[in-house]
Amino acid sequence: MEMRSYDPNEELRCPGCTELKTRADFYKRSASPDNVSAHCKACVKQERRDWRARVKVQLEWAQRCNHLVPELRERVEALEAELASALAHHEDFIAEMRLARGQA
Ligand SMILES: [Zn+2]
Repeated sequence: MEMRSYDPNEELRCPGCTELKTRADFYKRSASPDNVSAHCKACVKQERRDWRARVKVQLEWAQRCNHLVPELRERVEALEAELASALAHHEDFIAEMRLARGQA
């Protein structure tokens, strides 16, 4: 695989907030052509908060009903797996979250 070095001061436009930001304002994503995720860090965090808020309602409901409907446990696990995979490509984002939780 071709190794490229990227200028951290290079400016990229984020399609989320439409702001021109430096490469350092984006999470690394080795799978993408630019080597960064499409949206800036601020947008990724906001996206995660929105996602969490949506899922939280479903999770709470599912967990409350868990003892009544065993199938819901699978639903909870599926949602948690979905969240994990939604964030899995933000490599340094995951590291940052671990750091924040003291699991580095
Ligand atoms: Zn943005």
